[in-house]
Amino acid sequence: MIETRFLISSTRIEPASLRQISRVLADLGWKPALREAERAFLHAAGLHDGQEEALAAARDTRTEIFSALPTRRAHLRRVIAAELFFRDEEIYYLVTKPEGRGFWMPPANSSDEGQPEVEIGVISPRRAGLGDRLQHFSEELRQAANTAAGGGEPVRFEWRKDLPHTPRLAFLQASDERRDPPSFTPTRLGLVELEFGRTLAAALPRQILKDLMRAGFGREQDLAFLAKADPEMLRGALEELKQLGLVEIEYLLECKQDHHALLRAKTRRQLEAPELADFVCPVCQANFASETITAVYSPSAAARQVRAESQWLRIWVTERLTELGVPLGAMLWRSDGGQESDILAEFFGQLWLIAVKDGDFSADDGYAINYRRVRCRADRVVLLASGAIGQEARRLLEDALNDEQGPGGAGRLLYIEGLADASQRLEQALAASSFTYAQQRLRPIEEISGYDLGALLRLRFAAATAAAAGAGLASVPRLPQTAAPAAISA
Ligand SMILES: [Zn+2]
Repeated sequence: MIETRFLISSTRIEPASLRQISRVLADLGWKPALREAERAFLHAAGLHDGQEEALAAARDTRTEIFSALPTRRAHLRRVIAAELFFRDEEIYYLVTKPEGRGFWMPPANSSDEGQPEVEIGVISPRRAGLGDRLQHFSEELRQAANTAAGGGEPVRFEWRKDLPHTPRLAFLQASDERRDPPSFTPTRLGLVELEFGRTLAAALPRQILKDLMRAGFGREQDLAFLAKADPEMLRGALEELKQLGLVEIEYLLECKQDHHALLRAKTRRQLEAPELADFVCPVCQANFASETITAVYSPSAAARQVRAESQWLRIWVTERLTELGVPLGAMLWRSDGGQESDILAEFFGQLWLIAVKDGDFSADDGYAINYRRVRCRADRVVLLASGAIGQEARRLLEDALNDEQGPGGAGRLLYIEGLADASQRLEQALAASSFTYAQQRLRPIEEISGYDLGALLRLRFAAATAAAAGAGLASVPRLPQTAAPAAISA
């Protein structure tokens, strides 16, 4: 997984000043790769440093061969300038757009077209301390810009803090507010909830709860029989469920002849009450007082709640996503009372709809998920089931996406059956997106420099992107630029 962070300031830096700033940055240890490449070319041609501007100017005025219009690159080089710095295993970049952002720039916010803008960013395989390193770069840039300005008007950078991190989630939530009850809720990961998710991610405790819910209560041996479990392991799982308050112990008065249930109570004493002693068992005709009392397990109210809407699975997946670096604030939960529910997550400039279900996805689920996908305009759809994902459900979603997006549209779908490799599959999908996102932010630099920076990222972050290729999502067609990609962090 690679991380991209960027900062934006409404500062005006002309392309010519950027050359000087790059020179100063080079003295501070930031080797400007594009400038260095240009210099190497000059030297090879027997020219010297002072002539680079003349050469660049000649290049920038080139026109299309058959018309008087400048080439796209020549045009871009007039309105934006950029530099790349390779430091340790990271890539830093700097883009200046003195005339503001044109339609070719990935927007961070749609409100300020036409404002001069400087964007700096870092692309890294290392998340820890990334914000600090970008901060350090911004500080060195400020110094360099002021040194280059040579005592003139000081250059100010005000890195914007108001970039919308999750504009699409905010929009969905706002339009949902009028509904009662609202279908979107912020994610909640309390300690207890986390434990529920972790415990029920294992098959045996999950099976026990399922059997208990169906029967209402169960003896230890009945549960072992139903789950086909080793008695020792079953006892361990029951103990765990008991400690979490998901199962409760109750007492059962049963016929000693055929184990027929006569009465169930919260305490043993309730069953031993004298007023019950003289009742007669319809099977063996004995008094209740001489029948046996056994401890049984029953599901608690919390267990019913955590199984409804596959809540435990939603918790479990949310926790996996936070481990992979998706902030809790970038996710919403959606439910409508059915057995499945969604996590909506916005990161890497995309909206993900992650439908989860404890059980199998059916054709009906496929319809419902497709409807929700269209309504929230999700870019990616993940179906994650503890059981299977039916062929009907798959075909329905695939046909809808292929019809809508053209062939290959179904590449936006990801199916995960069972939890065994769910973490890994999610990570691969995220890694593929992280790569696309970095590539997207570097696109203006790619256009003006003529280097294939997508290929450069692949080569440079080979290990981080090998996993992404495995996800089969790396080749998904680029998303249209209509929706504003969110800053992951600024
Ligand atoms: Zn009896």
